[in-house]
Amino acid sequence: MTNLILFGPPGSGKGTQAVKLAESFHLLHISTGDLFRSELKNETPLGMEAKKYIDKGELVPDEVTIGMLSNKLDEHEGKVDGFIFDGFPRTQPQAEALDKLLELKGTTISLVLALEVPEDEIVQRIKERGKTSGRADDLDDSIIRNRFQVYLKETAQVLDHYKKADKVIVLNGVGSIEDISQALVVAISKAK
Ligand code: ADP
Repeated sequence: MTNLILFGPPGSGKGTQAVKLAESFHLLHISTGDLFRSELKNETPLGMEAKKYIDKGELVPDEVTIGMLSNKLDEHEGKVDGFIFDGFPRTQPQAEALDKLLELKGTTISLVLALEVPEDEIVQRIKERGKTSGRADDLDDSIIRNRFQVYLKETAQVLDHYKKADKVIVLNGVGSIEDISQALVVAISKAK
């Protein structure tokens, strides 16, 4: 199996690139953000719980997020060539849980692709996306800034977990969607 993690701050282009990579490498794209939004739309108890955090730009508690992710992996057991994780793991406990879940399935993370984008560019991009995304968390400046702060405080160091295992490739996330996609494909193909 090929299991990839797309890593980077909110608005760094993970979702856009994950969709393309999933198609190129026949992987199942799992975005925890998309999963939460789908639960929210269906007004499930999980969605209602997640909303409290998403609306503030905070992380949903680990046990909720890990449980949801674990169910998703089970649903697709044996059906796909691998996964591409987008927006997960975002904390050290999530990274450790993912290691265990994949190990139980006899597989592991192949590669972590980290997109680097500066804060000001992030805020601009998310506000632009907010005009059409219908996401309340994309419209408010202070929520967007908080999401970036949460990324720095809680998520950025998750990269060290994978650096220790020598699985990280850092790429410039500023440029055209096509150029970045190309750079990602080259990086994955080289590592294979
Ligand atoms: P972005 O990366 O643009 O911030 P996402 O769609 O990945 O957007 O996430 C939106 C929100 O969903 C996050 O701000 C957070 O509240 C919640 N969320 C998504 N993934 C996780 C996760 N792995 N752990 C905790 N909360 C998460």
